[in-house]
Amino acid sequence: MLAGPALVGFSVRLAFFGGSFDPPHRGHLAIALAAADRLSLDRVLFAPTGYQPLKRSGAVAGFADRLAMVELLCLAHPDRFAPSALDAPHLDGSPNYTVNALEALQHQNPAATLFSIVGADSLLELPNWRAAPRLLELANWIAVSRPHVALPATLPKILDDALTRKRLHLIADVHLPISSTELRERLHAGEDCRDTVPERVRTYIRAHGLYT
Ligand code: ATP
Ligand code: MG
Repeated sequence: MLAGPALVGFSVRLAFFGGSFDPPHRGHLAIALAAADRLSLDRVLFAPTGYQPLKRSGAVAGFADRLAMVELLCLAHPDRFAPSALDAPHLDGSPNYTVNALEALQHQNPAATLFSIVGADSLLELPNWRAAPRLLELANWIAVSRPHVALPATLPKILDDALTRKRLHLIADVHLPISSTELRERLHAGEDCRDTVPERVRTYIRAHGLYT
């Protein structure tokens, strides 16, 4: 017998954290940490999105650079965070949908309990994502508050139902005024952004001449 009684029924709590990560910043680290602590997550996979269908302007840095930066970001907590190429761009250039990434993750980890981490802005868009009901079946969702994005008193029905069924967990006391959009502007203006981008990631950005 390989597994002792303590391991019987043990299920890894595995979280998917998708995003552009263009570039990744301390806000991403902080919300993943809050989620991991509150929901006792064993592992958070930081997965840059290849081609995000809802982001009209597309990513500024290429996928390989975003994945490399995420890898460096995850070194801050190597025991709990890891980079993932699960949502890499498709060869035919078609958009990446989170539902496909979560299906793949479930397939690769059939015994895991899946979570998905988002900020408040992404949560409010979730009802418009492809296969929204399926998304809420595939994973437990963890949504973290974000400055300037008030969660309405009444959530859209699909999210409200998920909240009732405890498929959605809200972390409402994290308020980090950091965004990649603002960072790209600041980096472009020549600021070093040491307050919001970890040193390893800043070194990569400089070495590869990103966001200049
Ligand atoms: P951009 O400005 O380019 O959209 P971003 O800072 O929103 O960048 P994303 O890569 O789009 O970063 O975010 C990935 C996920 O992390 C999203 O679900 C987003 O809501 C969440 N997120 C990013 N920054 C924060 C933050 N400061 N507070 C809460 N959630 C955040
Ligand atoms: Mg965003």
